[in-house]
Order: sequence, then structure tokens, then C-alpha cells
Amino acid sequence: MIEGLTHPGCEALRGISAPVTLVGDPGYDEARRMWNLAVDLRPAAVASPRSLSEVTELARVATAAGLHLAPVGTGHGVGGFTGVDLSDTVIVRMQDFTGVRIDVDQQVAVVTGGTRWSAVIEAASANGLTAAHGSAPDVAVAGFVLGGGLSFYGRQHGVSANHVRSVQVVLADGSVVTASATELPELFWALRGGGGTFGIVTEVQIELLPYADVFAGMLLWDRSRASQVVPAWAEWSRQVPDSVTTSLRIMSFPPRPELPPFLSGRDIVVVDGVFLQPDDQAAALLEPLQALNPELDTFARTPAVGVLAMHMDPPAPTPGVMKHCVLDAFDEAAVDRFLAQVGDGTRHGLLLAEIRHLGAAFAVTPNGAGVFGSVAGSYLAQAVAVPMPPPNAPAARAAVQDFILALRPWSSAALVPTFTDERRAELFCPTDVARLRGVKQAIDPAGTFVSALEL
Ligand SMILES: Cc1cc2nc3c(=O)[nH]c(=O)nc-3n(C[C@H](O)[C@H](O)[C@H](O)COP(=O)(O)OP(=O)(O)OC[C@H]3O[C@@H](n4cnc5c(N)ncnc54)[C@H](O)[C@@H]3O)c2cc1C
Repeated sequence: MIEGLTHPGCEALRGISAPVTLVGDPGYDEARRMWNLAVDLRPAAVASPRSLSEVTELARVATAAGLHLAPVGTGHGVGGFTGVDLSDTVIVRMQDFTGVRIDVDQQVAVVTGGTRWSAVIEAASANGLTAAHGSAPDVAVAGFVLGGGLSFYGRQHGVSANHVRSVQVVLADGSVVTASATELPELFWALRGGGGTFGIVTEVQIELLPYADVFAGMLLWDRSRASQVVPAWAEWSRQVPDSVTTSLRIMSFPPRPELPPFLSGRDIVVVDGVFLQPDDQAAALLEPLQALNPELDTFARTPAVGVLAMHMDPPAPTPGVMKHCVLDAFDEAAVDRFLAQVGDGTRHGLLLAEIRHLGAAFAVTPNGAGVFGSVAGSYLAQAVAVPMPPPNAPAARAAVQDFILALRPWSSAALVPTFTDERRAELFCPTDVARLRGVKQAIDPAGTFVSALEL
């Protein structure tokens, strides 16, 4: 197929119930626009099913017409499709098939299709509960747990995919299956980290966490304080208990009227996170960082729903190029290298350089975990750059690459699927890749589903 031409199989989609936009249709550019505006996908068609029956009909008709299917939620994590020929592929956008039901007795959320974390946490918190969600409220639950998922509850409660009870999936022939510890256990193993390469996820049941409120917030300094704050946080993070999960970022914002004054046109250092401790113990733990006189300190007991806004992730679609690595240590030499890259006085071309504290329960694989049940490493380092103007990304790619290369002496071989924005297979060890291939062969033998995971 030549990109820009309609795949002959697409005409069959005209008759289905779900809204479909083909190449050349009015609205095609709007339909293919992802949350990450730097990712320019040109699929044969975009379908937006609104119900289980619309998903099954779409899968059946598209497969019979010889098309491939690429399920997506919001488009936060579609960088892996960059450069992939999608001219015979239907992007299945799940954002219009949503819903959440909280089973308070079981402490489980039953989450439909493309539902975002914000809807789930709002519903859970109305019942005094929360979940191991990520930093961005508008990421979809399915896409998050299919990639493992790292939350600010993670040093206490582990990788978020470990909290998934079951996953409902529509396969290429339109059949609906449920994968859990007792039904299709191999598929259940593969889905929790292996992403959207096996089918279209239409429901996730996820265990909730028993927190109505938590001690959480952020501390903020001007970047001129980085040489004091970064080593202090690194040293502090080595001593905090498992109940504390924090992140340190150096962020650089252009002057923008829509930004609050404490961000607009500024280079800053931010430490934020969640302490699952009584207030007096949390306050005592925080003291050494507060002693560094942050200009802003929002730490307080807060309803758990407030954690959704804590990390200040962009509230609307944004262009971004990102890269990460997992660090075995963030010792004095690593701190020096980090500061040489992004500390005071440097020009690094990044929106943010982040060190997230891992270890503790993040590093423990529980019995019955999926392919991504833990992270072997102590910290995650991430760089994000905004290509200006999109989609001209070479400078942004070079900036994130520079940052990750600088930390190579401390990085392990581990990678985290949700933070991986490239098409790659080396997310997993060869044994797990072979096992994933076996599941793919059994569940999707014709290779109908495409995702960023290269099997
Ligand atoms: C601002 C920002 C903050 C983030 N914060 C965190 C964080 O704190 N912790 C963390 O772990 N990650 C984080 N991420 C990464 C994010 O969790 C992943 O990109 C996640 O995959 C996004 O899921 P999505 O469905 O919203 O995105 P999409 O890009 O739509 O989906 C990503 C992939 O998931 C699969 N998928 C999604 N939905 C379905 C479905 N219904 N059926 C089958 N496959 C599906 C597909 O393979 C798809 O390509 C962040 C990303 C951004 C941009």
C-alpha cells in the first residue's frame, strides 16, 4: 500500500455501526491526532467504537477485509508507531467507550475501554478508596496497566499491573475473552506489560487501595539551588521508608501567559510525591528537604484525588519526545553528572529531566505477576523535550538522547514499557520474548494486531 491511498478493504468499514474515518474523509486529520502531538500517524482508517458490540463488529469486519488493527486509548504513548507504515491498519480509538463501576465490598474498579484515570479515581475516592494511578489524570487505565504502570504508591504497592484482577479482550475474529489468574492465564501474563498486541481491551478490573487521603505535595526551588537540592534529595531518598515515593525534576518553562507565575519563563527544581504515613511521621521525614527553604511547599494531608494534579502534567494534548533509563544507583557521581547535564547554568533543550525513586515494592515480583511485574533498579531517569515547531524533532531527540547517554554508567538493562516511546523488543529478556511470541501465536496467529512492542 502507498501511504495516502485508501486500502481496498476499508470500504467494508463504511457499513459498521462505530464511527469510522478513512483516508481522504473530512475529519481524517482530526481523527488521527493523538495526545502526543509530535506523533504523526497516517493509518488507513480511524474507528471510534462506543460499545462492546461496536468493538466486536469492527474487529470482525476489519479482519475479514484484511486490515490490521492498532488499539489506542488517548495517544499518550504512541511514539512507538513513529515511522511505522500504518496504511493497512485501522487505529481503534477507545476514548469514546468509557465507564467505571466501583465494587466497594471487593475494593475493585471495573473500568471500561478507554476510561481515564481521572474518572476512576474520582469514583473510587467517593468511596474512600484510590488506585495505583500514574502522574497524568488523562492517561487511560487500560494503556497504563498494559505497560506495567508506575505510580506514586509504587514503593509501597508495586507496579500497577500487579493490581489487575482480569482483562476483557476482543480478539481478531470478534470473539470476547476474559483473561485472569484462572482463565487464559498465559494471556493474562502477557497482557500485563505486553501491551496492545493481543487484542482490543474492553474492560479492566483493578484492585483499589484503601486511602481516602494521603500526605502529598511538592516542594519547589529556583534552579540556582539545584547543587544543594539534588544531592540532598538523592541522599534523603536512600534512607526513606518504602511508604514514601517521590520524584525530583528539573523543569524549564518558556514565558507563557497561560502558565502560573511560579512556572512561566523559569528554570526550577521540583520534588513531589506521596507519603503513606501518619502526618507527624510524614512531617518528620520531610523536614530535611523543607530545611532547604523551598519557595513553594504544598505538602499536606490531601484527599487522594488531589494526587492526580500533584505532578503538574500538561492538561491538554502536547508535543513531546521522551526517553528513559533505569538506574542502579543515583550516587554522588551520578548526581554530579546529572547536574553537569541539567543543573544551574546549563542549556539542555529539555522541558524536564526527572529522577523517580523506585526500589522497595517496585523491585519485587509477586507470585502470579505478568511479564512486567517489577523493575530491577533503584531510580528511573526520564527526559522530555518539546519539539519546536512540531513535528521537527531532531533537536528534541538529540537533547533527550544526550541526557540518557550521560547517565549510562549508572543505568541497568531494564526498561519500563509505559515510559518507552520507541518500537522495540528488548523491553523483555529473551525467555519472556519467546513466551510472548507463543501467546501471540496462540491468540492472534494472523498477526492482526499491531502495537509498539516488536515481537
Ligand atoms: C504526561 C505523561 C505522564 C505520564 N505519567 C506516567 C506515570 O506516572 N507512570 C507511568 O507508568 N506512565 C506514565 N506515562 C506513560 C503512559 O502511562 C503510557 O504512555 C500509557 O501507555 C498511556 O496509555 P493511553 O491508553 O493513555 O495511551 P495510548 O498511547 O493510547 O496507548 C498506548 C498503548 O497502549 C495500548 N493500548 C491502549 N489502550 C488499549 C486498549 N484499549 N486495548 C489494547 N491496547 C491498548 C496500545 O498498545 C497503545 O499503543 C505518562 C505519559 C505522559 C505523556
